Amino acid sequence: LDRIRGRALLWSVLTLCAAGAVALFLLWERHASESVPRFPGASLIFISIDTLRRDAVSVYNGKRESTPHLDDIAKECVVFDDAIAASNNTGPSHASMFTGVSAAVHGVLNTQKKAPQLIPRTLPTIAERLKERGYKTFARADGGYLASFLGFNRGFDSFDSTYNGLTRKIPAFLAWLDELKNREPFFAFLHTYEVHSPYISNRQRFEAALRGFEETEVARRVRMIANSADWLETGNSLFTDWRRSFTSDDFRALHSLYAACVEMMDANIGLLYNELKSRGVLDRAMVVFVSDHGEQFGEHGDVQHEEAYDELLRVPLLVRLPGAAMGGTVVKRSFSAIHLMPTLLDWLGLPAPTMIEGKSQLEFLNVPATGDEAVFAHRTCQDMFLGDVARTQRWKIFDFEGHPLGKRIFHLEVDPGEKENLAASAPAGAKHLEELLDIEHSVWKALSEKYDAGRASGETEKSTFDQLKGLGYVR
Ligand SMILES: [Zn+2]
Repeated sequence: LDRIRGRALLWSVLTLCAAGAVALFLLWERHASESVPRFPGASLIFISIDTLRRDAVSVYNGKRESTPHLDDIAKECVVFDDAIAASNNTGPSHASMFTGVSAAVHGVLNTQKKAPQLIPRTLPTIAERLKERGYKTFARADGGYLASFLGFNRGFDSFDSTYNGLTRKIPAFLAWLDELKNREPFFAFLHTYEVHSPYISNRQRFEAALRGFEETEVARRVRMIANSADWLETGNSLFTDWRRSFTSDDFRALHSLYAACVEMMDANIGLLYNELKSRGVLDRAMVVFVSDHGEQFGEHGDVQHEEAYDELLRVPLLVRLPGAAMGGTVVKRSFSAIHLMPTLLDWLGLPAPTMIEGKSQLEFLNVPATGDEAVFAHRTCQDMFLGDVARTQRWKIFDFEGHPLGKRIFHLEVDPGEKENLAASAPAGAKHLEELLDIEHSVWKALSEKYDAGRASGETEKSTFDQLKGLGYVR
């Protein structure tokens, strides 16, 4: 009898301890979440610097000279140390940042088709969400796949996707800002290809970047592009027909040109920031600096951004809150780009749409990273999904089923350069991540089916729209 009692007592004590631990955890978690301030009614300025590598930015690489202006700004920001893009390409990656779902769900690609897949109509974008709440909305993008034909214009009062760089976009934005009445809340989206290939900065920076590389094929080709009337037409000739035969000097020359573009972008961001500060906008606005993917310079034998290694998926993410609240906070946990939309809405005191994958991460900002937080991404190329990626800070799995590259597993903790593929030995440490990826496959399938009804291609969309108009659903 005593033994039974003793066992019962032990169970009671254990149960009480467990309940206490749960209660303490919940209290602590609530406290952690509540200690993150919210800014209802604040404006939001969302700056996407296309193709900006994480390690090109001073706050991440420790070299002040890389981006001195962003370095100063970062001191006033929440710095996300391990932000992971949703895809290696512009269209799908931005669509995920706008909607809070993976590319496998929204289906937007860097398409070559005449009737491309749009962001599903039934899937709200951040611009639509804020416009519904009375925000004035404004977007200036540098074109390419970030255009209205993929649905990126949805929710914006003013949307333009002319390729003209920050030097044109900043004055246009400031002029629009100066016309806003009564400090109305606004959402502004600015996107630039300033650091994208063919890496042409201004003449002085460009020539300085080529010093020491004059004899390389890169120098010859990039000069030809810089001197041509239309970079967009000739830009691709930097890579076509010879990218596989790059020498290490070619890669270094390309990286030097890229760094010059980063410097130029940084100077422009510095100008914009000062203008916003002098107008008092930063007291009542959040500012986000992010990129949609990185860029390769020979780490895995190639250039540009067609792969899914960390030099492509890890991106800078800085969030400057009104009045520089929480400035200097560094978030070590991995943060997927699909969390960006719900997290920003939460900071603005607004609920996120239901039935999206992304979740506000504010309750985790002050929670230490375990290194086991899983994030997922998709490798895409033009109209194809080439595979899924699952990643923690310890392991990374490339699941390219049906693709010649098949499965690749890297132990990031000991091999951050992703050089040694361990897939053949099926490492036990990666097993849990594989199981999580399997679960994600079901999530993507279910959500993709849910949003299927909202799918429309660029061609059918207009007729659908006209039809809805005729039925009185659209004014
Ligand atoms: Zn891009």
